[in-house]
Amino acid sequence: MKRGLLIVVSGASGTGKGTVCKKILDDMTDVAYSVSATTRAPREGETDGKQYYFLSRDEFSTWIDEGKFLEYANVYGNFYGTPLNKIEERRNRGEDILLEIDVQGAMNVMKKCPDGVFIFLLPPSLEELKRRIEGRGTETPESLAIRFNNAVAEIAIGRDYNYVVVNDSVDDAAAQIEGIINAERCKVARNLDKFNF
Ligand code: 5GP
Repeated sequence: MKRGLLIVVSGASGTGKGTVCKKILDDMTDVAYSVSATTRAPREGETDGKQYYFLSRDEFSTWIDEGKFLEYANVYGNFYGTPLNKIEERRNRGEDILLEIDVQGAMNVMKKCPDGVFIFLLPPSLEELKRRIEGRGTETPESLAIRFNNAVAEIAIGRDYNYVVVNDSVDDAAAQIEGIINAERCKVARNLDKFNF
């Protein structure tokens, strides 16, 4: 059985990772999504086990202690983590699996899974990034400034990824990432079995 791809889509906060990944998952029904665990409260319309596994801080700590995470990070006061068992299970079944995670988490996955496909999503410009961060409307001027400065620092880390895609339009960015996934699927090293006529 061929091991599935580990596709990591990441980028600075406010770049629109979530929206782009949703489009990819709608388009590519043969790509599985890794549902993360988080300590943040569910937003309206979110259900446990679908967008996230919603855990208490204590439950999250227990999962850490039990080694249940491939990676986890504190993102602006809430913890987020990628459950390890689902990833391994699915890849071993040959499923290609997509992770949408923050930059700290992606750096940790890079260390643990160097065979992953790391895709960095860039905003079209810093002005646009600022607009998108402000557009959330829930922040004080101080926390907006912190988020923006962190985002700029995170963008510098994008150079360590395998691919970069600019999120100018959701459809175009999703189409580019879908192209990357298809290209990765066609790599000779992954398809040596096909040469055995
Ligand atoms: P939100 O609360 O808006 O859904 O997500 C906030 C941030 O957490 C986003 O940047 C998202 O990519 C990131 N995130 C979601 N799941 C994970 C995860 O499992 N690990 C890490 N490191 N970050 C995550």
